[in-house]
Amino acid sequence: MHHAASGPLFATVAQRLERDVTLEFAVLGSSSAGNTSVLRVTSGAQRTQILIDGGLSPRTVRGHLAVLGFDPSETAAVLFTHFDHDHAKNGWGKVAMSTGMRLFCSASHVQAARARGYPDVAIAPFDARGAGFEFGALRIAPCETPHDDGSTVAFRIATDAGTLGFATDLGRVSRALTDFLRGAHVLAFESNYDPLMQRQSSRPQFLKDRIMGGRGHLSNAECLAAVREIAWPQPPERVVLLHLSRDCNCPKLVRALWEREEPDLAQRLEIARPFEPLEPLTLRCGQLQSPCSQDARCSAPTANDSSMSGARL
Ligand SMILES: [Zn+2]
Repeated sequence: MHHAASGPLFATVAQRLERDVTLEFAVLGSSSAGNTSVLRVTSGAQRTQILIDGGLSPRTVRGHLAVLGFDPSETAAVLFTHFDHDHAKNGWGKVAMSTGMRLFCSASHVQAARARGYPDVAIAPFDARGAGFEFGALRIAPCETPHDDGSTVAFRIATDAGTLGFATDLGRVSRALTDFLRGAHVLAFESNYDPLMQRQSSRPQFLKDRIMGGRGHLSNAECLAAVREIAWPQPPERVVLLHLSRDCNCPKLVRALWEREEPDLAQRLEIARPFEPLEPLTLRCGQLQSPCSQDARCSAPTANDSSMSGARL
C-alpha cells in the first residue's frame, strides 16, 4: 500500500505502546553546515541507537553523543534522508567498515552513497516508495519528496514508546507528506528561511531561485502551514524545527512568528542549533517525560497515533 492513497486512520489501529520502553531523540546539529540527529530506544537491556543523517563528522558526533550521555559505540546505523554534503560526510564509510554500522538509504541514492566512498557491504538500500522496514526496535516508514534534481526521504519511525516524524530539505509539502506524519509524538521538521532575508541576502540569484523554487527548502511560513496541517487534530508533544539558515533566518523571528500564528504549538516548539546539540527529548507511552519525571503515565489512550506505518509493516 502506498501512503499517498491512505488518509488518517485515527483509532483504527491501536498502536502497541509499552510502559517500560523509552524513546530518546536529540538533534546534534542542524544547518547547511551539517545535519545529524540521534534516536535511541531502550527496552530493558535491549537498545537500538541510530543516527538520522551523517552530515556532521564522526568525530563531532562522538563528542556530542558523549556529552548527552549516549554511548557512541552503540550506534548501529545511519538513516539518510539524502546525500547532499550537509547530510552525508565522507567519514561515515570508514566508520561503517570498522564497526559494521549499517548505512540505510533509498535505493535511488545508492550511487550517491558510493560517491561518498561508502562501501557496498555497509550500504543497506530501501524502497523509498515502499512500506518500510524494521531495524531493531524501530519500524521505519519512508516518504519520498522532491529536492533539487533528486529526492529526499522523510521518515516516520514507530516504536513501542511513541513515534518520531522527521522531514527535512523539502522542496514543497504534499498532502501525502502531511498525512504521513500526522499523529507523530515528536515531529522534527525543516524551517529553512525567511523570504525577506533570503531576497535581501547577498546570495547569487540562481541560489535564491533554487532554494525558493519549490524543489529546495521550506520557508518559515511554509513550515508553519505544514505543521499546522500535521498537528490537526492531535498536536505532537514536541515540534523541533530543523535546518534554519544561518544567513537567511533567525530563531527569534521564527519563534515570534509561531507565537503570533500558532500560540498553542509555539509552546511545544524547539529550534535546532547549527553547532550545539539540543537536550534529548524522552518519550514513554507516547508522552513527553520532563527531565525530572520518573514515572510514565501510561493510562492515556494511545489511539491518537494514526499508526499508518504500523498498518503497513
Ligand atoms: Zn540540507
